[in-house]
Amino acid sequence: MSTTYLWNPPAPASLPVRGTDARLPINRLFFVGRNYHAHAIEMGRPVDKATAHLFYFTKSPGTLVESGACVAYPPGTQDFQHEMELVVALGAPGFGVAVEDAAKLIYGYACGLDMTRRDLQLAAREQGRPWDLGKDVEQSSVVSEIVPAAGQVLSQGALEMRVNGATRQRSDIARLIWNVAEIIADLSRFYHLQPGDLIFTGTPEGVGPVVAGDRIEGSIENVGSIALTIGAAE
Ligand code: MN
Repeated sequence: MSTTYLWNPPAPASLPVRGTDARLPINRLFFVGRNYHAHAIEMGRPVDKATAHLFYFTKSPGTLVESGACVAYPPGTQDFQHEMELVVALGAPGFGVAVEDAAKLIYGYACGLDMTRRDLQLAAREQGRPWDLGKDVEQSSVVSEIVPAAGQVLSQGALEMRVNGATRQRSDIARLIWNVAEIIADLSRFYHLQPGDLIFTGTPEGVGPVVAGDRIEGSIENVGSIALTIGAAE
C-alpha cells in the first residue's frame, strides 16, 4: 500500500552529473570550518594541526542551488560573503572509516560556494551561539555539476574565483590542512555517512562581500567551474 501524504512532499534535492542524464540525489550537506591556514588567520583563529581538531557545521539540503542560478541578496544581513570550496560527493556508506579506506566512499567532486551572512556568523561566534542564521541561509549552498572520480582522493589542483572578473580567491587543494581522506574518516566517527552526502571542504583566504548585481565565477583544476549571480533583495 502506498503512503498517503497530506500534501505532495518536495522532490529530493539533486545535482547533474557529468557524462550521464541521471542526477545525484542529495542527502546531507556538511561543511568543514577553517581548513586553510591563510583563511584561518584572516578569520582571526589560526589553526595548529598538532592540537586543533576538525570541526563542522551543516546546512539543510533545501539550501542547495545549482551553478548558474541568480539568487536574491538574503534578508537580515549587511555582509553577505562568498567562500569558494572543493566539494566531495559520497557514493557509498561508511561509519568509523579508517583514513586508508576513506577513498572507497568517494563518488566524485564539484565546485561549491558556501555563501555566508558573515555579520550574523561572527556575532553568533562571539556570543557562543549556533551559526545557523549565518550559515544555513536559503539558497546559500551553490554547487556545480558532479564530476565522477570514484575512489580517487583529490590532493592538488588550482582553485580560483572572481567577482565581476576581478580575482578574489586563489589557492590550491594541496593547501588543505586536513585532506579529503582525513575529513571523510573523521566525519565518519560522528555520522553514518550516506551516498548523496556532500562535504564542503573549507575555503581558502580572500573571502569577502558581494552586492546585488555581482557575478561570481570560480573554477577548480580538474573539477570544473561554477557561477552565481546576486540579485536584488526581495
Ligand atoms: Mn565554508
